[in-house]
Amino acid sequence: MRNAIIADEVDVHFQPIVNLKTDMVVGFEALARWCDPDLGYVSPAVFVPLAEERGFIDSLSETLLRKAAETALLWPKELFLSFNLSSAQLMDPMTSTNVLSIIQRAGLDPRRLELEITETAVMTDADVAQKIVTELRAAGVRISLDDFGTGQSSLGRLRDFSFDKVKVDRAFVSRISADRASEHIVKAIIAMCDGLNLEVVAEGIEDFSEALKLKGLGCGMGQGYFYGKPADSVTTLRYLAEKYQEAGPALSVAV
Ligand code: C2E
Ligand code: MG
Ligand code: MG
Repeated sequence: MRNAIIADEVDVHFQPIVNLKTDMVVGFEALARWCDPDLGYVSPAVFVPLAEERGFIDSLSETLLRKAAETALLWPKELFLSFNLSSAQLMDPMTSTNVLSIIQRAGLDPRRLELEITETAVMTDADVAQKIVTELRAAGVRISLDDFGTGQSSLGRLRDFSFDKVKVDRAFVSRISADRASEHIVKAIIAMCDGLNLEVVAEGIEDFSEALKLKGLGCGMGQGYFYGKPADSVTTLRYLAEKYQEAGPALSVAV
């Protein structure tokens, strides 16, 4: 893994996040991809924790954020880039400085960056996490609470911690058509976020019926295979060119 970072073999793919009212793409989530010549495809759910444990999450994350930011520069300016921060990064007081200097070097406006964090990560050292988040938000970066509903889902944290967006975990979305309980939970999360002035993204929308249900519940944004699988930067640019062509000739994408 360490060698892969040095050899620049770790790549980043992008998955569209859409406005559920208009079905227009509003941003992309960056997702790490690594294919080792011997091991084959290794999931980020495996190698990110490994990089944290072995102490090279910083160099991994720097490579990924730099690549993601450079790609985002080729997109229309109104689209945001959403990037996952790992738990270890949320415990490191240098994270805000590091993140801001990486995107500054790449030339990406901090107002186009969103960082996804999980509750588990916030819980480990809430004071340091709060400080990092405050510094980043002061620079214009937005913060999303990822995988909401599966961890602690503490309502106190939603009240006291400064987030901009909540991402409802796929575990609820994938059962929304089949079970009433999931539907009611998602409905309640949407109503709560509405009152708290938080945006909501439903994760893992896989089919039309799920999308329809979420639209009916007034969910603002969605992400999932139904709207687009994670794809490399070239495919993403092609996807954008097609989308923007559909939307009219006034908008164009440099490919
Ligand atoms: P996540 O941040 O919750 O990312 C969403 C995961 O759900 C991604 O898995 C994505 O490919 C998958 N997904 C999206 N839509 C669908 C769908 O409709 N159906 C299904 N079944 N899955 C869907 P992926 O890429 O394997 O990433 C797994 C986790 O690894 C991520 O969960 C995130 O926690 C972590 N991760 C990925 N890239 C990075 C990174 O660059 N840095 C850090 N720190 N963590 C990362
Ligand atoms: Mg995420
Ligand atoms: Mg998630």
